[in-house]
Amino acid sequence: MARRKKIYEGKAKTLYEGPEPGTIVQYFKDDATAFNAEKKDVIEGKGVLNNLLSEYFMKGLGQIGVPTHFLKRLNMREQLVRSCEIIPLEVIVRNYAAGSMSKRLGIDEGTQLPRPIVEYCYKDDALGDPLVTEEHIAAFGWASQQDMDDILSLALRVNDFMSGVMLAVGIQLVDFKIEIGRVYDGDFQRLVVADEISPDSCRLWDIETGQKLDKDVFRRDLGSLTDAYSEVARRLGVMPNNPPAPSKPTLVN
Ligand code: 5GP
Repeated sequence: MARRKKIYEGKAKTLYEGPEPGTIVQYFKDDATAFNAEKKDVIEGKGVLNNLLSEYFMKGLGQIGVPTHFLKRLNMREQLVRSCEIIPLEVIVRNYAAGSMSKRLGIDEGTQLPRPIVEYCYKDDALGDPLVTEEHIAAFGWASQQDMDDILSLALRVNDFMSGVMLAVGIQLVDFKIEIGRVYDGDFQRLVVADEISPDSCRLWDIETGQKLDKDVFRRDLGSLTDAYSEVARRLGVMPNNPPAPSKPTLVN
């Protein structure tokens, strides 16, 4: 089989040219990074879990009419997506204070916000993805006013969908990050949810116990990341047939 052309290698995924023009194969790696790649590890099985979870969320969004880049899952590690031009923004939606917002504003982690708050960060690793305002976005031409209206609406629809899906399995959606891509259909452009939606890019807390089931487990050394992501996958019914081995031996009677 001919070697595929690699288009881009990121921290958690590698992108290859897809089989048809306008398509891309997204390969989910086991690499985990945090704090702008200052902390790194390889977490066996993470790529498989994120591939399945991202498929689950993107398909669900598609079913309620939220456009995404997702086309189909190809295998346990890869999915076929529409090629799009990524808007250089991280769009963050927060329902409860946590992480950088808690630090920046001195609000206790877990405090419910009066309403979902949407923030934008400029995607630039060298600068540490700084928080920016709509003024910066307009002035530097990263997105138009119409784009910003569409991005806000997409972000809030994703938030409603994800909050509901998570609530149904006893998980609180604290916050999440999405990326938005432009796809061109002839002369028309439209915006779609791109990249991935997975526990790598969300904060997910068990409603009963407050246990963290997301990448903070890795960032803050709270235990096994595979166990946390497997728990999310198990509750949603998307556990792979050969799940990653649990981190500890299990006694069987
Ligand atoms: P914070 O700004 O509190 O660090 O992050 C807010 C939310 O966005 C968290 O759910 C976090 O996982 C996600 N997030 C922020 N920046 C990144 C990033 O560069 N990569 C990923 N995967 N998620 C991010």
